[in-house]
Amino acid sequence: MVEWQGIVIHHSASPRGFWQGDQWQPIDSEVVRRWHVQERGWSDIGYHYLVLADGRIELGRPLDRIGAHTQAGRRNFTALGICLVGNFQYDTVSPEQLSAAVKLVKKLRQEYNIQIGKVELHNQVPGSNTLCPGRFFPKELFLKLLDSG
Ligand SMILES: [Zn+2]
Repeated sequence: MVEWQGIVIHHSASPRGFWQGDQWQPIDSEVVRRWHVQERGWSDIGYHYLVLADGRIELGRPLDRIGAHTQAGRRNFTALGICLVGNFQYDTVSPEQLSAAVKLVKKLRQEYNIQIGKVELHNQVPGSNTLCPGRFFPKELFLKLLDSG
């Protein structure tokens, strides 16, 4: 088992879903897995969790395996990767999605005894050079909600 010491928050930098004929296909862990495995040649989806736009939470890479989400600061080896589906350079995080992400981070912090200071947005990791999770990710509100209750 990996001794997780932190959590890194990402966005998928993608739409929330797409139309397949007349069916709306939300971007979920299967879709992201396909991108990461087929297009990037990885062994599996890079994130441990995906938070869908409607607030559903899906498991990605098994928790006993290091991730492929944050090279900077070697966070892949020490931190769980959580990805919120959407592109928050352009879109906002829906209330359902934000509260699901907060709940998940709270649960993981308890489970692994992760300090609040070790919950980082991807672009806050020293050495990272990314816009992820996007300028409209509500950083302050997220931290405030994490701190409450
Ligand atoms: Zn990221």
